[in-house]
Amino acid sequence: MSPAAPSTLNTFDHRPTCAEVDLGALCHNLNAIKTFVAPSKVMAVVKANGYGHGLERTALTLQGAGVDSLGVAYIEEAIALRRSGITIPILVFGGLLQEQLELYLKHDVDVTASSVSKLEQIEATAQRLNKRARVHLKIDTGLERIGVHYYSADSLYEAALRARHSDVVGVYSHFADVNLNDLAIAKMQLERFLSSLRYFEDRAHAPFLRHIASSSGLMALKESHLDMVRPGLTLYGVYPGPGYESRLQVKSVLSLKSQVVYFKVVKKGAGVSYGHKWHAPEDTRVVTIPIGYGDGYSRALSNKASVIIRGKRSPIVGVVCMDQLMVNIGPNGEAYNDDEVILIGTSGDQRVSVEELANLVDTTPHEILVLLNQRIPRVYLTAAGAVPNRDN
Ligand SMILES: *Cc1c(COP(=O)(O)O)cnc(C)c1O
Repeated sequence: MSPAAPSTLNTFDHRPTCAEVDLGALCHNLNAIKTFVAPSKVMAVVKANGYGHGLERTALTLQGAGVDSLGVAYIEEAIALRRSGITIPILVFGGLLQEQLELYLKHDVDVTASSVSKLEQIEATAQRLNKRARVHLKIDTGLERIGVHYYSADSLYEAALRARHSDVVGVYSHFADVNLNDLAIAKMQLERFLSSLRYFEDRAHAPFLRHIASSSGLMALKESHLDMVRPGLTLYGVYPGPGYESRLQVKSVLSLKSQVVYFKVVKKGAGVSYGHKWHAPEDTRVVTIPIGYGDGYSRALSNKASVIIRGKRSPIVGVVCMDQLMVNIGPNGEAYNDDEVILIGTSGDQRVSVEELANLVDTTPHEILVLLNQRIPRVYLTAAGAVPNRDN
């Protein structure tokens, strides 16, 4: 028997737990960012399964809404996008291994050239395959990740000027620290980037895009917009930290929902969940929800996060299990089996945000989103309402 072909009909179709993705909100956010940064271009970052929103659907929606290009971390993500019908430029941010180069050229994916030797590898492969490579040079202005240091960038620029099989379509850098209260590091990085660029600007044969700002940078520092910005988080309607809301209004795209599967009264003093890390202070009503850290809802949220049931916030009690968690709805709380549970999202005047969950466990909002894994079906809302097919 041959292995089963991947199917759009997915095994988790009927799970009560899902991530609802509002594609209208996604388009709204793209337009808000476009207006904010115009005339700069926008590269939408869709790495890590579109920040948990689903790689293909997110990318196709953004392409349909007129985004200029897409950014991903790995070549595999770019290939998946090409196979799903993405025709606009895709840049892979990540470090390059020589053996992957043929894939870049075969699938027409933009390469990050982060050193002279990497650029030489790109040149050699492009020549051998008789193709032209599209290249973005990567300048390190202070993150100490991939990229040639800004103070030795001239060697990379010279190699780029010598290149015969590559088109340098961009030069970019990435902020290490954007802090609304102290932009000194970001400003220093921007200055390093711009001054290193002068050498290349004076000599380049063709126009190219200069870019440095992701979500926080583009909101915090207008001078950083340059020719293009690279938002991820903000596109999904989530803010990188406090204080950004006043700069640009975006709508959250993802809601995480489930349903009550069990109701019980827990007697005063009884311990709840593994290790009895919570004890009922009084007789109280506790419901069980079918989602856990096996879905990417972090165990670190145990005894910290709240959910919304019937318009009321109630706390998670005890540790989050792999597949289930318990919520204390109080001695007189009302909830029935099948009731909707909102783990991320809004109901009435109550809201649980990605930012709130990130704060509770001292991580970035990015991590809360990308942890939500393939076991949670994504349900897409368009202007016409819920899209019946669900993707993982
Ligand atoms: C992830 C990433 C971005 C997007 O960052 P956000 O904070 O989500 O806006 C932009 N550029 C690079 C190089 C990245 O790796």
